[in-house]
Amino acid sequence: MKIAVIAVQGAFIEHEKMLQTLGAEMIELRKAGDLKQPFDGLVLPGGESTLQGKLLRELGMFDILQQKILEGMPVLATCAGLILLAKEISNDEKRYFGTLPVTVKRNAYGRQLGSFFCEGEIKGIGRYPMEFIRAPYIESAEEEVEVLAEVDGKAVAVQYKNQIGVSFHPELTKDTRLHQKFLELFSRTDIG
Ligand code: GLN
Repeated sequence: MKIAVIAVQGAFIEHEKMLQTLGAEMIELRKAGDLKQPFDGLVLPGGESTLQGKLLRELGMFDILQQKILEGMPVLATCAGLILLAKEISNDEKRYFGTLPVTVKRNAYGRQLGSFFCEGEIKGIGRYPMEFIRAPYIESAEEEVEVLAEVDGKAVAVQYKNQIGVSFHPELTKDTRLHQKFLELFSRTDIG
């Protein structure tokens, strides 16, 4: 299984390492030419969503990636990646892929609580370490979106068909179960 990680900015190396330990072959997407290689899944890492969105458009990767997501390619999106997937961003005019029917709020935890760690419960997985870094949360989700985790009453992990989006950074902890859940999408035929 070959998985591509967007490598224009942000915390992509940690995703690569984690997925490699789980047996995936990883490639980095830095420019349009990298999209010529075949790959089966996609990781949208944390970082700065505004910059990532701008770079993806300028580098000519945006439309092709959006099409692949719409066609059902499994996607794992963390933090800024979740913002790129969201259909709506309540405190920003911009929209990116818009393939995940949720409304997110950027930098939702304010300045003082911009970064924090907690443990939450992920549906089907159990207690999970959650590292939040100037994270968004999910303000609302359309009915067909499954909420996988909430922290303080706000959704922080969701799944919709082929897309898993989380507010926190699972790649920065040692727990690989969420990445494992992502890999399980590849054997499902009822999504996409
Ligand atoms: N604050 C960033 C944004 O709005 C996301 C931060 C992150 O990915 N850790 O894009």
